[in-house]
Amino acid sequence: TQHLLARVTSHEALGAFLHVDADAALAAAKAADARRAGGDTGALLGVPLAHKDIFVTRDMPTTAGSKILAGYRSPFDATVLARLFAAGTVSLGKLNCDEFAMGSANENSAYGPVANPWDAARVPGGSSGGSAAAVSARLVPAATGTDTGGSIRQPASFTGITGIKPTYGVCSRYGMIAFASSLDQAGPMARSAEDCALLLSAMSGFDERDATSVERPPQDFHAQMQQAREGATAAQPLKGLRIGLPKEFFPAGLSSDVDKAVREGLSQMEKLGATLVEVSLPRTELAIPVYYIIAPAEASSNLSRFDGVKFGHRAAQYDDLLDMYKKTRAEGFGAEVKRRIMIGSYVLSHGYYDAYYLQAQKLRRMIADDFQQCFTQCDLIAGPVAPTVAWKHGEGKDDPVKAYLADIFTLPGSLAGLPGMSVPVGFGEGGMPVGLQLLGNYFQEGRLLHAAHALQ
Ligand code: GLN
Repeated sequence: TQHLLARVTSHEALGAFLHVDADAALAAAKAADARRAGGDTGALLGVPLAHKDIFVTRDMPTTAGSKILAGYRSPFDATVLARLFAAGTVSLGKLNCDEFAMGSANENSAYGPVANPWDAARVPGGSSGGSAAAVSARLVPAATGTDTGGSIRQPASFTGITGIKPTYGVCSRYGMIAFASSLDQAGPMARSAEDCALLLSAMSGFDERDATSVERPPQDFHAQMQQAREGATAAQPLKGLRIGLPKEFFPAGLSSDVDKAVREGLSQMEKLGATLVEVSLPRTELAIPVYYIIAPAEASSNLSRFDGVKFGHRAAQYDDLLDMYKKTRAEGFGAEVKRRIMIGSYVLSHGYYDAYYLQAQKLRRMIADDFQQCFTQCDLIAGPVAPTVAWKHGEGKDDPVKAYLADIFTLPGSLAGLPGMSVPVGFGEGGMPVGLQLLGNYFQEGRLLHAAHALQ
């Protein structure tokens, strides 16, 4: 913990941390030592972590990357973090992210951008950009992130680390500040599939405080990960595994460096015993408009609670209550958040609801059905996480639609609520890391982690 706190200080220029609490971290480390001395053998005991600033914390500030939450203190810890704390992990602090997790480059944070540790001129991806940079720069061995439309997988891919977004409902959303509630999922970002498995086991599980939490017994993902497939050998741990390659995940527009690295990863999986089969997800392109209707619709509703009354920032000068709401929100929210609130309010309004929101919901169902069709032909689906490697800071900042289009490969799995991973498979343009995306059917986290582990 001491060593990493020093690294956090010497790497301040990355912009990964929004809050560091050295005293609390050292005290937690001491408490973990005492537990270990008392015979506790927990795998996560004393492991230093840091957390995306979208999880509320009682003993640290929570901003969600937004000015509107400046000065806010939560009276409780998010369930996911409370479970990690109970497992004896040490928290170094809170990590930068796009404002309310809206973004793909961590350039929408009110507290400044985050640099990619591989090349400071490039973005770390988003919205969990601080988590990705902190793990990649070895400031922490692992961190928490959240993924609504790719925000664990894409930054993991851009920084050469491993991340998993579990099946919707596996991790509690209680205390995770809501962006799009039907899509939001927490997950770990770490150096390996094995570390992800250990963290996910501790973070996940039923929580009666989240109405969409899935009721099932606690899972040991690390044990599931290690369970060899039938017929598998040490040399061929993936024997018998059918990996589906949706042809829509390899379009003409895919940049050649990413295509090459991903195909090398796939041929590695073949050597490990997997068979590759071509499948189709015909509505892949539609996932973009569908997501960018549904996510803003839910955001416009979720973010109505930030009105200057209950949380954080309140405008200093105002005439009456309505004026206070207006000024608080005008001052507190950044441009991307305002854009989404407007889109969301529009698609939900009378006369447009049927034309946009309802159509999007119908297509969402069809996208999920397409996956089920695929899973009759394969066990896992693979492809790129993103069409390019991490881009340079400032590129695409003024073109939100361009940024939305880059989410094409992560959005379908999110809309379907499926588990997905990013596993580093090589390097592309500028020596930047490239991640392979693996998607599994519902509750197939063990199979995903096993495949990723074999590749590592
Ligand atoms: N890039 C997507 C967006 O801006 C996904 C973000 C996320 O998963 N939180 O909405």
